[in-house]
Amino acid sequence: LREMNGRHMWQPMGHPGEAQNSPPRIIKTAEGVRLSDIDGHSVVDAVGGLWCVNLGYSNDAVKQAISDQLWELPYYSAFAGTTNPAAIEAAYTVREFFAPDGMERVFFTSGGSDSVDTALRLARQYHRLRGEPTRTKFLSLKKGYHGTHWGGASVNGNNRFRIGYEPLLPGCFHLPAPYPYRNPFDESDPARLAEKIAAAMVDEIEFQDPSTIAAFIMEPILGAGGVIVPDASFMRHMREICDRYGILMISDEVICGFGRTGDWTGARHWGVQPDMMTIAKGVTSGYFPVGGVLVSGTVAEVFEGADASGAIWTGYTYSAHPVGAAAVVACLSETQRLDTKANAAARGTQLYEGVRRLAEKHDIIGDVRGGHGLMTGIEIVSDRAAKTPMDATTMQRIHAATYEAGAMVRLGAHNILMSPPLVISEAEIDVILAALDAGFSAV
Ligand code: PMP
Repeated sequence: LREMNGRHMWQPMGHPGEAQNSPPRIIKTAEGVRLSDIDGHSVVDAVGGLWCVNLGYSNDAVKQAISDQLWELPYYSAFAGTTNPAAIEAAYTVREFFAPDGMERVFFTSGGSDSVDTALRLARQYHRLRGEPTRTKFLSLKKGYHGTHWGGASVNGNNRFRIGYEPLLPGCFHLPAPYPYRNPFDESDPARLAEKIAAAMVDEIEFQDPSTIAAFIMEPILGAGGVIVPDASFMRHMREICDRYGILMISDEVICGFGRTGDWTGARHWGVQPDMMTIAKGVTSGYFPVGGVLVSGTVAEVFEGADASGAIWTGYTYSAHPVGAAAVVACLSETQRLDTKANAAARGTQLYEGVRRLAEKHDIIGDVRGGHGLMTGIEIVSDRAAKTPMDATTMQRIHAATYEAGAMVRLGAHNILMSPPLVISEAEIDVILAALDAGFSAV
């Protein structure tokens, strides 16, 4: 398999978690929160696939719903002109779930990058339909991750996803990340940092001319950029500024949604109602690729009155795929039945506190971030006082040793990132902590 993988599969990114040029691990089976590879290793999946396997790998209700739908109606699109019963039920379920966030309608896509690009496109349409066609620019945060399509890559704040792909969408501006450990203001107090970024945002908006800005997009907790947890005031500052200038606020809930932060959405966790949300990952827990864009009633209304001659063209072959829709209904019902947000909060605290204890023992740990549900980031440094980022080879050695000791973690530059399934047990979190301890000891 390994030899064939090298010969036939194109994996242009390589295998960043592994030693340079080493072959990929081949994951063969999964059960509960555990993965098994073809070499016979069984490890706890501390990443939840790619931040998506919220219900673990063994949810029978979701598997059954997918299977039943395959026999009923295996495919029919519902992005315009037609729809299907599974899609209607999924839309109803999603809407019920997000009603507390003021979200009234959902447009289904095939994943997170699709959702972000659709949200950006529709934000421009929203302003055009309201007679403000000059509002075309986008604001976002450095360290934010919003997918790899052109729109998402343009608002991305991680330059690893930008370099080599330019020119990207013009008119995208990035504000400093709410990252107390490193920021251009040298501000370590999270609340004061939030105020400084808010001031920088106002400054940028005034500089650009408010009537040219369509939307601001952010993750409530920044995931791939290193699990950056903003101050509780941060998103509220951003909301207030968007309101002041007529800018749409898009909350990218692709990771944070469906309980990962300890609340059902990241925006709700911070007490904010955005105008739009992007979802994916946890909406089907990895069992089927589905994403979506949610909009408030105010946004939906603008499109309702739109000219039916078809100025709004956007959609995907697999928008509201019936099998995906059945997965959404089953997954959200299981998410609520198992109250995964409560377990995410409790186990998230256990993981965060456990890593903080490891930081007392291993001085390569520069910063530990988390404490809001099951998202934890560990920043690794070669010199704690100087905050020198750890080199890539050592990071790969930590990753490999942690895997050998029983846990799959994710590398993000000099960060270790974790987002285990929300159904994880106390004992399984202890396995992750012991494996990390072994991984750090190895270097
Ligand atoms: N937004 C966020 C916040 C994400 O974390 C991701 C994926 N990691 C995406 C968008 C893109 O989703 P996908 O990989 O499903 O296209």
